[in-house]
Amino acid sequence: MPDIRLTNTATRRKEVLRPLDPQNVRMYVCGPTVYDRAHLGNARPVIVFDVLYRLLRHVYGPQHVTYVRNITDVDDKIIARSAETGRPIDAITEETSRWYAEDMAALGALPPTHQPRATAYIPQMVAMIEALIARGHAYEAEGHVLFSVGSYVEYGRLSGRSTDDMIAGARVEVAPWKRDPMDFVLWKPSAPDQPGWDSPWGRGRPGWHIECSAMSEALLGRAFDIHGGGNDLMFPHHENEIAQSRCAHPGAGFAQVWMHNEMLQVEGKKMSKSLGNFFTVRDLLDQDWPGEVIRFVFLSTHYRSPMDWTEKKAREAETTLRKWHLKTQDIEPAAEVDKGFLRYLADDLNTPGAISHLHWLAQGIDYRRQDLAKMKTCAQLLGLLTDEMRDWMTKVPEVSEPVDRRVEGLMSERFQARQMKDFARADRIRDGLREAGVIVQDHGDSYTYDFAPDFDPAKLEALQ
Ligand code: AMP
Ligand code: ZN
Repeated sequence: MPDIRLTNTATRRKEVLRPLDPQNVRMYVCGPTVYDRAHLGNARPVIVFDVLYRLLRHVYGPQHVTYVRNITDVDDKIIARSAETGRPIDAITEETSRWYAEDMAALGALPPTHQPRATAYIPQMVAMIEALIARGHAYEAEGHVLFSVGSYVEYGRLSGRSTDDMIAGARVEVAPWKRDPMDFVLWKPSAPDQPGWDSPWGRGRPGWHIECSAMSEALLGRAFDIHGGGNDLMFPHHENEIAQSRCAHPGAGFAQVWMHNEMLQVEGKKMSKSLGNFFTVRDLLDQDWPGEVIRFVFLSTHYRSPMDWTEKKAREAETTLRKWHLKTQDIEPAAEVDKGFLRYLADDLNTPGAISHLHWLAQGIDYRRQDLAKMKTCAQLLGLLTDEMRDWMTKVPEVSEPVDRRVEGLMSERFQARQMKDFARADRIRDGLREAGVIVQDHGDSYTYDFAPDFDPAKLEALQ
């Protein structure tokens, strides 16, 4: 097995993953706040860490990996949504969690081992806040409990920011109960009409950051291997998680490797409601973009680079997947995962490299079936070409196995014509294929072909 190397935000280096316990490799990823459909950007960490989860399961065994992704079901945005719509909070969070599970499954993401809801871990959060107060890292003021940032000298280390940057970045609220504007909320009071729990500081609710510290401890322990999320969470959320967990349990270690995915853009621009280019995963699925195509587009960019969603990429991904499904539909996956492919994936999740390796395997002319069997196994490790993901293919009846055989037959006739130096016939076949919407590309001795969106099976059939 190759070593898995991951870029650790905490050290700014690519490091070999050495799990604390290879019998139980543990990963925590910050999940959604459930008040609305997930937008396309939210899908990026889901897909990125799903690929890592699959790789870890492959290397350490499915029984030896624990993946936790939380659900934030207590938050001011949820309270506001309930006030706007008049719907009870529980109804909103339950429905949105279900949508999230459906939409992410449509993108081929495996469900994590645990998906804890914050409201089920309030006693653990209260206990952690009490420990922080007892150790002098937090203080109570007017029904609030605040973390005292000045009490933790390593604060800001993960994101590498200066205090001035942090104050600007956090848009800190200067509240009369704060000793320092940087201090952040662990607990706050709830009005009678807001959700609240009894606590030593009166009826209230937790601040956002404490839930991840409490839930990761409850489900993964005080030290675990990987903590992930989008770049935007590095500060203040992850910085605050580190401060809380390390101060509550000095010396325990908390997360060993911090991983952050870059942001998603749409057609070269930041996705935002005001630019009119904001859409949800469900919007795309409803426009008939298959989940597998969306997944492929995401995997075509490395997780540490900004990613651009474009229709052009989606159309190209669809053509490629259609061809791959067709080529491998009657092929059993190989038993072993190709080593060259694994090397890409183990190198900081180089998914674009892994995909180029799939293209290469799909083009082999010698031992074709073996190459395609290898290719299918590798693609399935990426969550592509799986039986669950191929439903959309049935919606394109024109692309069927006989069609593929017909193209292969014409291609070998073309090859023979060239060998006989009958170039006119060879070119006629190529032009006929092109006319029918089959795009042939020559690569020295081998060739590849794609089906254009206007592919016409009748024209293919009529070719002489
Ligand atoms: P939120 O619900 O805003 O807390 O975000 C849930 C997850 O989606 C977090 O890991 C964010 O970092 C991630 N995320 C939000 N917007 C984007 C984006 N445009 N691109 C990539 N990831 C994002
Ligand atoms: Zn978190």
